[in-house]
Amino acid sequence: MKVKKFGGTSVGSAERIRNVGKLISGCKKDIVVLSAMSGTTNSLLEISSAIKDGDRLRVSGLIDSLRQKYTLTIDELYKTEEYKEEATKAIDEIFNELKDISEKPSSPKTEKEIVSKGEMMSTRLMQLHLQEEGFKPALLPALDFMKIDRHGEPVEDFIRSEASKALAGHPEADLYITQGFICRNEQGEIDNLQRGGSDYTASLLGALLNAEEIEIWTDIDGMHNNDPRFVEDTRPVHNLHFEEAAELAYFGAKILHPTCILPARQHNVPVRLLNTMDPAAEGTLIENNLERSSIKAVAAKDNITAIKIKSGRMLLAYGFLKKVFEIFEKYETSIDMITTSEVGVSLTIDNEKNLPRIEEELSRLGTVTVDRDMVIICVVGDLEWTNKGFEAAALEALRNVPVRMISYGGSNYNISFLIRKEDKTKALRLLSYHLF
Ligand code: ADP
Ligand code: ASP
Ligand code: MG
Repeated sequence: MKVKKFGGTSVGSAERIRNVGKLISGCKKDIVVLSAMSGTTNSLLEISSAIKDGDRLRVSGLIDSLRQKYTLTIDELYKTEEYKEEATKAIDEIFNELKDISEKPSSPKTEKEIVSKGEMMSTRLMQLHLQEEGFKPALLPALDFMKIDRHGEPVEDFIRSEASKALAGHPEADLYITQGFICRNEQGEIDNLQRGGSDYTASLLGALLNAEEIEIWTDIDGMHNNDPRFVEDTRPVHNLHFEEAAELAYFGAKILHPTCILPARQHNVPVRLLNTMDPAAEGTLIENNLERSSIKAVAAKDNITAIKIKSGRMLLAYGFLKKVFEIFEKYETSIDMITTSEVGVSLTIDNEKNLPRIEEELSRLGTVTVDRDMVIICVVGDLEWTNKGFEAAALEALRNVPVRMISYGGSNYNISFLIRKEDKTKALRLLSYHLF
């Protein structure tokens, strides 16, 4: 059994849905994870924010224009009146729920309910499309088995046992469709796995159900060696080690959700990145196999804040770092990069929610300086320290870019540079030019 995930662009129109239908129709007993049609999650978030603002007119305008998009899709997707009616009924039901929620006072709970509707719609449209084509797909509600705990971490045993039960409940099905992204939280409320989270759903299901492979189908032919949104002439990387892919995903390669490689790596299930628009392209195979002595790719993670704590007594004061880390732990803020010197420590975070309180507590340990709007540039490959010259090559490429921090040696797979936001594109291009 394989788990195949199709992203928003891959199911973004009637034609694309038909295209995916063709790709999956021969998949015996595979699990197909779908994102919302592209643009839908953003529209739902806009609706949510209009509700929060109390802007009733805008709410109904946004709901109507989203509804219109689905009317057109239904019209184009189905051949028979019977299926057009069935799909209209299903989508109407979801929009009625959306309208009901939109009349309630806004809260984080209602926001999450609203944003879950996109995946509910795309999966239902696909199920009906495959049925119209004569197949027997079973639609498994992700809310029955995808679950996170109070830290937002997946509850693996629950997911494994409940997803297995859901599959076993449909022996007649020739394939299974489920929603990516959405889940339930500890309170049983509707929640989600963060933006781009359908990749994570697929990886969790593939890993926990012991799939033969996890396929992530998207709009590009695999992981490229640099971010194609900022750099021209990037090339697909055909093979990546789990660790390399995990670093790239975490440090900004948008093609993968930041943590989606972790379950696959833990359970040693290969992940293949494929292109829906060009199914014959080789794509990228991510597995437990390291191609020696090569730099694979570069990625960038935005919205980074650097914090420097300078203390004259740091050298003598053992336990200093412990005190620093405890403050971040207390405010549930994770640290990405860290560098130290005799008199201080610099580190980066990507979540400023608790920064004022963190700053206040840190200032008891030393002088605190904060730099906002920074970017981490991450160079990934087989960068084990005995492989000479790679860190020098990366540094040489960035000779004319001001670098605030450098981190190397934390793993065998990456070297990270902290730079200013305005230098990001230049840095990515220089690295492509010099390294590839
Ligand atoms: P989906 O909707 O299928 O999940 P995403 O938009 O999340 O697709 O991810 C695919 C996009 O990721 C590509 O269109 C590309 O612009 C972007 N991207 C960023 N970095 C990379 C990279 N290193 N390799 C490939 N794609 C990348
Ligand atoms: N629909 C969600 C999003 O746009 C999840 C996903 O596409 O992976 O973020
Ligand atoms: Mg994505």
